[in-house]
Amino acid sequence: MEGLMMDYPLTTNTILEYGNSVYHHKKIISHLPDGTRHEYRFGDMYKRCKRLANALVHKLGITNGNMVGTFAWNHGPHVELYYAISGIGAVCQTINIRLSSHQIEYIINNSEDKVIFVDATLVPLLEKIAPLLETVEYYILLNAPKDFTTTLPNTLHYEDLLAEQSEDFEWPKLNENDACGMCYTSGTTGLPKGVLYSHRSTFLHASTIISPNAGNFSNSDTVLLIVPQFHVMAWGFPYLCLLSGSNMVLPSSHLQPDSIIKILQEEKVTKANGVPTIWLGVYHAMKMNPPKDKLALEEYLVGGSALPKSLIEGFEKDFGIKGVQAWGMTETSPLGTVSRLQPKHAHLSASEKMDIRAKQGLAFPGVELRIVMEDGTLAPTDGKSMGELHIKGAWTIQAYFKTNNSESFTEDGWFKTGDVCTLDEDGYMEIKDRTKDLIKSGGEWISSVALESALMAHPKIKEAAVIAIPDAKWVEKPLALIVLVNQNDEISDGELIEFLSRDFVNYQIPKNYVYVHEVPKTSVGKFDKKEIRRLFAEGVL
Ligand code: ADP
Repeated sequence: MEGLMMDYPLTTNTILEYGNSVYHHKKIISHLPDGTRHEYRFGDMYKRCKRLANALVHKLGITNGNMVGTFAWNHGPHVELYYAISGIGAVCQTINIRLSSHQIEYIINNSEDKVIFVDATLVPLLEKIAPLLETVEYYILLNAPKDFTTTLPNTLHYEDLLAEQSEDFEWPKLNENDACGMCYTSGTTGLPKGVLYSHRSTFLHASTIISPNAGNFSNSDTVLLIVPQFHVMAWGFPYLCLLSGSNMVLPSSHLQPDSIIKILQEEKVTKANGVPTIWLGVYHAMKMNPPKDKLALEEYLVGGSALPKSLIEGFEKDFGIKGVQAWGMTETSPLGTVSRLQPKHAHLSASEKMDIRAKQGLAFPGVELRIVMEDGTLAPTDGKSMGELHIKGAWTIQAYFKTNNSESFTEDGWFKTGDVCTLDEDGYMEIKDRTKDLIKSGGEWISSVALESALMAHPKIKEAAVIAIPDAKWVEKPLALIVLVNQNDEISDGELIEFLSRDFVNYQIPKNYVYVHEVPKTSVGKFDKKEIRRLFAEGVL
């Protein structure tokens, strides 16, 4: 028997309409690439979305199902693009500005973008490949001075486009299962693959993250979106801010630790997101030069790679700011788990509590997890048995765009993440490694994530990345790349081996160390294990 409730479509338009009707007074603050600060209200943004919708339909000829690319920093206009493009039934395709020219060209041609909205400071990256882009009819310039010159063909200025349109626009009736956005994986293995989000998956993902058990957002918050909007719809934040009534702060290209600290201070930010490398940088900059007044920042949500326990402890002890770890993938919208303590953990010791918080955490409602071991059986939920993490849920990928990657999915409907994990009896998931990053030495598995986290707890170490290198006797052995907090410090391999021997047995401990100024990073700021392997694993040592 069917229920007798309304069939109310969960679309991004309903998010925008809600944000405008309930929270029209809340702020969107952009720190723009030219260093200026721009502030307006959700209500102003709403009107500009309607102008943009008119421009997309009447001026640029965009219709339902067309792809519209964005090549831009985090700022108000990029949020307008998220809403207006999907609002008219087209697909907002965010392009990662840090990929190689070849990958960017591939993404634009593969997705068949008809129009690309590009930040003026990023135009040179597109000029190089514009002749190879087969489907693009217009380039719309964001944050460009009037006299801006470019070799890109068919350019229009964003503000001119909006100025000539009306604020009256009626959103079309959309099906909640229609596509609203697309992001490509960052291509750490092979060419990037398109992940096509639906209105429904986007709505459910954003509304679930708001809850206190998850991201803990409310209309008292001011939220800084450090995660670039070109990456996985920036973790749902541009949507959840309108649903929760949180002020939104957007840093555009101001992503250096000192700029982030300045924005945190000036805007009295209470919550923020980012990958661990961003927070490592912010923490060390704050240690070096402690802010005069306590920051308003209460919590920072971290994902993308493992949050080192030492960073959680340091931020909390030194500055009273709480780190909350989440896990996710482009294929999971991205957030799938988050780690928070529960009242039942109150009696645990500080270190036991920290062990739980350093796990990747509990599945969100609407998400299911299982661990499948090498022999194909389900791992017991004992917190020890390792296997590949499988996931299913309301915002998990079902198939890649235009690509038949059937090996990523199981016959019984799960997505295979490629992460090697454990699940404990309470449902907390812990990542041991990505399948391709695990080190197998003398037949025993070694977790590079655990070694990195332990090394980064050393007071002299800022960053540590561990990979497998070939070894005649053990087949593979670990090698650690080390970045010191202070480049003039002295540290010996022996000191590090001794330091690790408190938590690891001898065969697990790296005997090879390379001291570098910086660990190579991926386009989204994670340790680039593929590049590190290329540089250091091919028999160099
Ligand atoms: P790509 O797959 O191209 O690297 P994603 O951003 O989709 O790009 O990366 C997803 C992967 O990042 C996960 O499969 C996992 O290996 C890693 N990851 C994400 N969050 C965490 C976390 N909290 N701890 C450890 N690894 C994480």
